[in-house]
Amino acid sequence: MAKIALDIDSTLHPYWDLLAEIAQQRYGVALPYDTQDDWGIPGLDREQIVDCVRETHSEANVLGAVPYSGAVETVCEWHRAGHWIHITSHRSTDALGATGKWLEAIGLPFDDLHCSYDKISRCVELEIDILIDDSPINIAGALERGITAATIVHPWNVELVRSGKAIGAADWPELREALEPHLTQSRDGR
Ligand SMILES: [Mg+2]
Repeated sequence: MAKIALDIDSTLHPYWDLLAEIAQQRYGVALPYDTQDDWGIPGLDREQIVDCVRETHSEANVLGAVPYSGAVETVCEWHRAGHWIHITSHRSTDALGATGKWLEAIGLPFDDLHCSYDKISRCVELEIDILIDDSPINIAGALERGITAATIVHPWNVELVRSGKAIGAADWPELREALEPHLTQSRDGR
C-alpha cells in the first residue's frame, strides 16, 4: 500500500480564482491565472499576499470550496484500496477545524490531516511515497527526498511536468490514471 500526501489548494479544488478575487477587492491588483508562470506574485508585497491568503482560509471560504470533478471519487477509491491518505495544507492551524469540516462535507476520506508550514518535513516523518501538490517548491522538496511528486498542471508548475520531474495531469481522472502504476508498486512494496 502507498502513503499518499494530498495538498488542498489548487490540488483538490480551484483556488486561484478566489485568491485573485480577494487581491482585486483588497488591493485592486489583477492576478491573471494564465500568465502566473512562477511562484512569485508581482504587484503585491509579502504582507499583502499573506493578508489575501489568510482571507482565502476564512471559515466561509474554506467551507465554500468546490472540489475538482473526480477528486473525491478518486481519493475514495484509493482509500478503499487500502492506501493511507495524509491531507496536508499550507495554512494556519486556526483553519484546521474548518478544513476538517470541509473534508467531511465533501465526503473525502483521510487518515491524517495537517495544516502547517512544514509540509515536506512532515511528509518525510510520515514516510510518504507520493506527494500530490501544485507548488513548485513542494514538488522540488519532495523530489529531493525521494518522494514521488504529482500535480494537477497549472501555469506555475507546467515546466516541472514538461521536464519529466513531476507527474502531471490536466484533471483528476487523468491524474488517477497516471498514478495507477505508482500505487501498485510503492517505494518499499508496502
Ligand atoms: Mg496548493
